[in-house]
Amino acid sequence: MFWDQAIETAGRAGLERLQLQRLQATVRRVAERVPFYRQKFADLGVKPDDIRSLADLRRLPFTTSDDLRVNYPAGLLAAPLNDTLRLHTSSGTTGKPKAIFFSRADVENAAELCARSFVMTGVTKEDVFQNMMSYGLFTGALATHYGAEKIGCLVIPAGPGNSERQLMLMRDFRTTLVHLTPSYALYLADFLEKRGVNPRRDLALRKAFVGAEPYTEETRLKIEAGLGLDVYNSYGLSEMNGPGVAFECEHKQGMHLWEDHFIIEIINPQTGDPVANGEPGELVMTTLCREAMPLLRYRTRDITSLMLGRCPCGRTHHRLNRITGRSDDMLIVRGVNIYPQQIERVLMATRGIGRNYLIRLEGLDEMIVYVELTGADFDGQVEHLVSLQSQIAEKLRAEILVKPRVELVPPATLPVTDGKARRVIDNRKL
Ligand code: ADP
Ligand code: ZN
Repeated sequence: MFWDQAIETAGRAGLERLQLQRLQATVRRVAERVPFYRQKFADLGVKPDDIRSLADLRRLPFTTSDDLRVNYPAGLLAAPLNDTLRLHTSSGTTGKPKAIFFSRADVENAAELCARSFVMTGVTKEDVFQNMMSYGLFTGALATHYGAEKIGCLVIPAGPGNSERQLMLMRDFRTTLVHLTPSYALYLADFLEKRGVNPRRDLALRKAFVGAEPYTEETRLKIEAGLGLDVYNSYGLSEMNGPGVAFECEHKQGMHLWEDHFIIEIINPQTGDPVANGEPGELVMTTLCREAMPLLRYRTRDITSLMLGRCPCGRTHHRLNRITGRSDDMLIVRGVNIYPQQIERVLMATRGIGRNYLIRLEGLDEMIVYVELTGADFDGQVEHLVSLQSQIAEKLRAEILVKPRVELVPPATLPVTDGKARRVIDNRKL
């Protein structure tokens, strides 16, 4: 199913022509209106007229999240303040929030891309959409809310948390779609199990849109089993409208990134050079349609790779592989580079443990991985727990080359948040 078939399946040449036109307009816009970019262009000796092909993109400066912070609150605005309609901030997972302004067209485009993304997974106006993302400064909820309304779904702005109420809403209104973070999805699955709810039998759920945090394929499978539905990976960031930047189609093989709105580059984060096609690197994006706050070559710090080949769905927009983490998520423990997702992958693939975990780094370089047990295991024999503990520690050593201390904790004792999960606490004195 398509929302806008012509653009979703456009030939690459036409799509690239459109990108170039929009890039040129964006570059002219920021050169005229944003002193920060004017200065950067002057430093690099580049003028808007120099951008004659998409390859010229590389002549343009990068924009970093620090640039957004330094220019906080309104230094990167490319429209008069009274032409802006809405302010969001990034959720501030990595420090001080960044202010992101939306014009009327930006608000409209954000909803449009969410509608397009949802329809791509098979959503229709018959669906009932319970939005469990946080409404507020965070972009996660509003754009998807308006996107689903555009399609004609019944939208329930539930927000996150309060699982008892979520369950009541899902039952009473026969919710078919949910949108939530992976950590909350796992928590909700546990909650349903505890309440004796069998989602396939007792609820009408069909699909979950899961994003805002990195998660692994193993976690997807756990959520699908626990909630009795299909999980679609949803990627976005406030700087690029919020959700609806890249989304999985019905084939669930990589996320189509909407290239009529964004230009993708994947670079080596150390050198800034492009990586070879299909190799992992940092995702960099240039906005093509944003009016209030266009950003050139924005360094997302998200690590991913292009998925090569054509998607069977017929869409021509390139696909991204699962985001494996942020370049600044990487932990260095005893000289070894470790991404929290490697640990998650091992835990989620281990039978007999719960769904929540926490990594703590202490002292000089000690790593402790707390793993929640399920109710059944918690009541089990001590010998069984000891063997489970060493089995997990061994599997982790094989994956990350460092053997952590594994602590098994009772069910539902690790912290859960309404927003993004905090998986790592680093108390090291290095
Ligand atoms: P913050 O940078 O404060 O977390 P945002 O709320 O804008 O601000 O979050 C965007 C970030 O969330 C992305 O840059 C990415 O790191 C993460 N993210 C969003 N969706 C996904 C996803 N599907 N998979 C992995 N990471 C994601
Ligand atoms: Zn596809």
